[in-house]
Order: sequence, then C-alpha cells, then structure tokens
Amino acid sequence: MALSDITREAVLAAVAECDRMGRDAFLDKYGFRRALRYVLRYDGRLYDSKAIAGAAHGHLPGHAPLTVGDLSGGIGHAVTALERLGFEVISEPAAPRTDDEIVRTIGRLRRAPDSGKPMLKQAVVLLWAIGRARTGEDRLMRWTETVAALAPLLEEFRRDGERRQGRPDYPIAALCHAGLWDLPGHTNVPRAHGDAALKAWFAEHSPEGGPSASLYALARESGVARIRFIEAIAARFFDDFDESGLLAAVGLYDEDVATDEPSPRAASDRKTAPRHVTTDPKGDYARLCESVARSEARTRGRRHSSNTEDPIRLAAARCAVLIRSEGRCESPECGSPAPDVNDRGEPVLEVDHVDQISDGGRDHPIQMIALCPDCHAVKTRGRSRHRLIPLLAQTARDLHDRWSAAEA
Ligand SMILES: [Zn+2]
Repeated sequence: MALSDITREAVLAAVAECDRMGRDAFLDKYGFRRALRYVLRYDGRLYDSKAIAGAAHGHLPGHAPLTVGDLSGGIGHAVTALERLGFEVISEPAAPRTDDEIVRTIGRLRRAPDSGKPMLKQAVVLLWAIGRARTGEDRLMRWTETVAALAPLLEEFRRDGERRQGRPDYPIAALCHAGLWDLPGHTNVPRAHGDAALKAWFAEHSPEGGPSASLYALARESGVARIRFIEAIAARFFDDFDESGLLAAVGLYDEDVATDEPSPRAASDRKTAPRHVTTDPKGDYARLCESVARSEARTRGRRHSSNTEDPIRLAAARCAVLIRSEGRCESPECGSPAPDVNDRGEPVLEVDHVDQISDGGRDHPIQMIALCPDCHAVKTRGRSRHRLIPLLAQTARDLHDRWSAAEA
C-alpha cells in the first residue's frame, strides 16, 4: 500500500466525492484536517491535498484509503504524488488575520541587507498601502498603477548607499510570500531572490494586487491596529533611519493617525460613530503603551528629531489616554462625561501633557490626562492651577498603573 500507486482516475474520483459531500464532511470521513498551505487546484476549485491523496488510494480497486498516519512522513509525498499525475498543487500563504498576527508577521519579515542595513523597500510598500487604506482607496490596484505610484517613493526613501531602484516587484513578492499581500489569481509568484526571474514574472503577468484583505480592513478602520502596524514596521526596518519624511509622504504623519475611521458602511453615520470602538480596552491600552515605549527607545538619541515631536508616538499616547478616560474627564475633582462628541465621533476631551515644564512633556500616557474643556481651562489659566497640576500628575500616574496592572 503506497501513495505512489494512486492514479489520475482515483484522484478524480476523490475530487468528485469531495464535491458531492462538501469539504468538511469529506475531511471528517477520511480523518484529515484542512490543509494549511498545500492545496490541489482542479477545475478552478481548491482541495486539501493530503486528504485527496489519501482518499484517492481508497478509490483504487481493492485498496483502503490512506490515513493521516500513513501520510505522516510530511507533505512532500502527497504533493509529489499529485504533481506526478499532472495535478497542480499550490502553496497558499496562511494570511495573518488579526492585528496581533499581522504585527508578529511584520516582526518576522525577512530583511534583505544592503550595505549592512535592512533595505527599506518592504516598509515603503506596506506604509504606502496602509496610507491608502486609511483614506478608503480601493484595496486592489492594477500593476502599472502600482508601479507608477511606488517607484518615486522607493527611489526617494532609501538608506544612503541602498541601491537606487524603484521596482516594487521584489518587495511585493516578499510580502506576498509572507501573506501580507494579495495578487488574486496568482499563486506561483517566484521567491524574491533571483532578480531576473522575478522581473520577468511581473512583466509577463502584470498582476493586479494589494494588501491582504485583513491587513487592509484593519488599517482602514482601526486606529489602534494602524498605529501598531506603523510602529511594528518602524521597529523592524528603520533603526536609525528617520521615517518622518516617508510617513508624511504616504499620509500617515499626523496626530489623528490612531483615530478610528468609520467603516464604509457606517460612513453615513459619521457623526455618531463611536471612536475607539474596542472590545478590549485594557489590552488596547497596553498595546498602545508598548508602541509608545518602543518608539521612545527607537528614536532616543536620534540627532535631528526631538523626543517630543513624533506625531505617531503622540497619536498612540493620545489614543491610549482617550481609551483610558472612557469618555469622562480624568480630573479627580470632576469626572464629568465629555459634553459632546466632535465631528469624528470623538469625545470632546483635551488630552493634555500634565506637566510640560519640568519634564519636557513626554508623550506617554503616564504623563498625560484627558480633561473636559472646563478643567482644561482651569488647569491652563486658573488661579488654582498650581494646586491642580501636581494632583493631575499623580492622577495620571495612578490611572496608568491601574490600567497597566495585570488583570485579576
Ligand atoms: Zn472636568
């Protein structure tokens, strides 16, 4: 009994059986799980390659199906057996779906070194796509347009000494294999090395493409996810490279970058769409504080950029404080709900650096507080401000500690 016995007819019988039963019932019957990566493509439909190979064996006269155990020697045999019979087996990148998965995937992107530092190309492509998602532009774009949009950015934003070359095929192929980019209908994108082959493949197919659906949706709608992606990209690629010009060029360098965008469906409901819709406020608060801390560590000692003038970090810190405020003034002497929401649905609260003089106004939630307009005015101009400011500073620290404490 061996996989190499299976015939094309037996495989087609298994495919027909799977069509008849439905994928899950078919998998149940033969005791296989869904294929994570290698799928058989036949007649425009996709099938779990191991399960089909195992079932096909049972369609040989006088033979039993092969089990998971029989095929435990790895995927290679099933793939080889199917390909030997002339079937097409494709490798599907398991696209990361949640913002945590995407952040982890970004943190593992292969960095092609050039002059000893990672090349910036993947970072440029991702940030460009996130900027487009934020403004609600279409996820997919024709290849010629993609090249036209990216070439000037790739030319401009590179390290000193990084090859001057505006072709986006290398970074897009790499992102594709990481599951962060989609070229619908194309599953045989060459690996990123082998420059000539890559160039020829893109020239031949001119593929329409864009960021993966989950990356696009999260970057489009969730301010927390967007700021985390930006920070993860910066942490992975930029080191000492000052990313502010690039972020500005792709429309991501402003204090609202962590603000939720209403989903296209809710666009008509813009005024009432709640901001920072989160099902996990403490988790989001912790994740944003982590981004803030990483950003501080990364830019410390940078020559030209002050530690207090990074709109990305400020946006992350503001967003965290607004989540922490739960829509109320954080002054312990007030606690009033925000009197209204603004046009973006954001509670009308001022997120204030508590003590700008003595500490240089560090952009960190531990030194920032959300105040209603009245309390903000008193804190800024009132006679009691000298008494109020130390109280608010202590409050910000206490609130931060409480929100950072591990869940009981
Ligand atoms: Zn107040």
